[in-house]
Amino acid sequence: MNPKLNLKSLSKEDIFLFIEKIGLPRYRAEQLLSWMYKRHASEIDAITEFSKDLRSNLNGIAFISNLKLVERLQSSDGTEKLLFSLEDGNTIECVLIPDEDRFTLCISSQAGCAIGCQFCLTGKSGLARSLKSYEIVDQIIAVNKIIKAETTDNKHIPTLVKGGKGGLPDKKITNIVFMGMGEPLMNFDNVVEALWRIIQFIGISKRKITVSTAGIVPKMLLLPLKAPDINLAVSLNAADNETRNRLMPINKRYAIESLISACKKYPLQSGRRITFEYVMIDGINDSPDDAHRLTKLLKGVHCKINLIPLNPHSESDFKRPPEKRVLEFQKILLNKNIRALIRESRGQDILAACGQLRAGNR
Ligand code: SF4
Repeated sequence: MNPKLNLKSLSKEDIFLFIEKIGLPRYRAEQLLSWMYKRHASEIDAITEFSKDLRSNLNGIAFISNLKLVERLQSSDGTEKLLFSLEDGNTIECVLIPDEDRFTLCISSQAGCAIGCQFCLTGKSGLARSLKSYEIVDQIIAVNKIIKAETTDNKHIPTLVKGGKGGLPDKKITNIVFMGMGEPLMNFDNVVEALWRIIQFIGISKRKITVSTAGIVPKMLLLPLKAPDINLAVSLNAADNETRNRLMPINKRYAIESLISACKKYPLQSGRRITFEYVMIDGINDSPDDAHRLTKLLKGVHCKINLIPLNPHSESDFKRPPEKRVLEFQKILLNKNIRALIRESRGQDILAACGQLRAGNR
C-alpha cells in the first residue's frame, strides 16, 4: 500500500481542508477536483494548471489512485466489458453499453457478492470485499478516459462515431446503472458517497443514475433520505415468497410483502417509475399463474417491469423459457395496464449480460 495520501479518498470537504492545511488558496481545491474527476488526471504531474513546484510538493505527500485495466472484451452488439484490478489485487468488472444517443455504464459496487441469487454467476464466487467510494467512481473516470482517447482517434465504437444516428456531442458516459458486481445497498455508505461524487464532480444528473437492489428493505427506505431522486430498480424475479426464497435467499430476511411496501414508500419524481427486473426462468417463475400473481402484487405500485429471459450459464441447471411463454407472460401484464418490456441482455457472447459478471474468475 502507498503510504502517501490518496487524494481520491478525500470527500469534497476533506479536499478543501487539505488544500487549506497546506496553505493553498481555495480555488486550488476546485482545480484539483476538476482535474481528477472531469479531466481524468491519473497522476499529480498531469495537472498542468499547477506549477512545477506545487506538483513536486504535492507528489511528496500525496498521490492519485487509478484502476488498472486488465482486459477488454467487445461483444458483437457493441457492448464492452472491462476488467479492472484494484490496489489489493481484487478484480471488478463494468460494462459499457453504447446506444445511439447515450453511453450507459453498468458499474460494480463490490468485488463479488454475498447475496447468492441462484441464477447469478457473480454470486457463485461469494464476496471478496466492498468497494471504497473512490473505487466505484474510478470505474467511470477510467472508462471516460478511454472513450475520450478513442473517440478523439475516431476509433471507439464505430456505429456511434462513424455512422450512429446523431452520435454523441461530447463523448462521455451519460447514464450510470449500479447493476454490476455486488449489492449496492450492502455497501451503503460508500455507494451514497459515490453517488454524490458522480453527481457533483463528474456532472451526471440524478435522473440518469439508477441503483439496483435485490431488496435490502431498511436501506431502500434510507436511500432517498441520503441521496434523493435516484432511480430505483428492484430485482424481483418472483411474485410469491416460496419461489423468491428459492431464487433469492435474501427474501428470507426481507419477505416480498415488506419489499413491495418499501417500494410504495419510495419517493418518485414526476414521470418516474420504479423498475422491476424479472429474470424469467423456464418452469420456475414463467407460468401464466406467476404472471397473474405478479399483477396482483404490483397493484398500486408506480412501476415498469423488465422481463429478462435468463442468460443460461454452465454452473446452473436453470433454462431460458421458450419465447412463446415470455410473450404470453408479457401479455397478461399488459392487459392489466402494467408496463412490461422484454429485454434481451446485451453482451451475452462476452459474459457481460445481467448476472454474468465474474471479474475473470471463470
Ligand atoms: S443478482 Fe446482484 S445481488 Fe444477486 S447475486 Fe448477483 S450481483 Fe448479487
